[in-house]
Amino acid sequence: MVDLGEQKVKTAGRVAALQAKLRQENFDGLLVCYFANRRYLSGYSASDMLPHETSGFLLITSQEAFLITSPLYEEQAQQEAPGFEVVTFGKGISFAKRIAELIVGRGLKRVGFEANAIIFDTYLGLVRALEDKAELVPCRGLVEAFRLIKEAEEIATLRRAISINDQVFNEIEPLIEPGVTEKQLAWEIERRMRDYQGEALAFETIVAGGPNGAKPHATPGERPFEPGEAVVIDMGTRYQGYNSDMTRTVCVGAPTPKFKEIYNIVLEAQLKTIEAIRPGLTGDEADTIARDLITSYGYGEAFSHSLGHGIGLAVHELPGLRKGNKETLEPNMVHSIEPGIYLSGWGGVRIEDLVLVTTDGYELLSAANKRGFWS
Ligand code: ZN
Ligand code: ZN
Repeated sequence: MVDLGEQKVKTAGRVAALQAKLRQENFDGLLVCYFANRRYLSGYSASDMLPHETSGFLLITSQEAFLITSPLYEEQAQQEAPGFEVVTFGKGISFAKRIAELIVGRGLKRVGFEANAIIFDTYLGLVRALEDKAELVPCRGLVEAFRLIKEAEEIATLRRAISINDQVFNEIEPLIEPGVTEKQLAWEIERRMRDYQGEALAFETIVAGGPNGAKPHATPGERPFEPGEAVVIDMGTRYQGYNSDMTRTVCVGAPTPKFKEIYNIVLEAQLKTIEAIRPGLTGDEADTIARDLITSYGYGEAFSHSLGHGIGLAVHELPGLRKGNKETLEPNMVHSIEPGIYLSGWGGVRIEDLVLVTTDGYELLSAANKRGFWS
């Protein structure tokens, strides 16, 4: 159980920090539409799978904090978000109308909304209900900027999500044998995540054998593993809202020379990049270390995605370790390092770990079995 007193103190600090930011940017309020931001600020844990009018929005003003939700979630919202005034819609009053009442009733004139997380129909309904009495201003990244640097308690929760993931992988690794299908292995993974207190999958588990591994985000199918092929397993467990994410690539039976070649390149790129992680390094520089190394072996074109991403209440969040990102890494960011090589017709190799940026370097958080270099 969550300690509600602690929860209230924690979220009150976050809300106060956001209110200061809103004042700086001349907003009278912010409508928080994105599930991870909603949970971060309020503690309210409604699933990101719900339609967002059902789960609800937050309205943060300079003095107050509201959680507007469906009556279905009223009790949960009151329990989980003790620092918020819970307001429900229904009985002839729509979600948009209820929000507009709060905005107009308080005389708010300039209200931000999270443009990357609102449904267009909801936006149109709000504009109609406001009848020109307030201006809605699209915002991006306001709350994300706070979530980027993890608090000690968030890091502790992430460690737990990661350790469940590690334990599950170590248990299922010996099950990878000829004849086992991708779907069977995915189920062995998912069942154990639940057994070990994971509350959900962080994302759809990827188990991709042989040629399927050439698709970085393949869906597990009925195909049985064959001797000598690569199997890419990308898995994540959600624990108390926080996500883990880890990829291993294993060979079914004795590795082929091709497998050894590709695996060694990806592993070298991954280890060299992890070694370089420290405050002040930019996302672009980190990506370049891995990309240049893979390119030097002639496989630059086959590394078809960026190096890594931040993780927390969302599986993909800031920082982005990718080309062109000049933002620097800072202590207490948590992110993945996941180079890969994908060859159509043959398959793929990806190796992914999560790291914590420390004051003078990094700490490797993932501890799942990882095969070293093949010789
Ligand atoms: Zn992953
Ligand atoms: Zn990832």
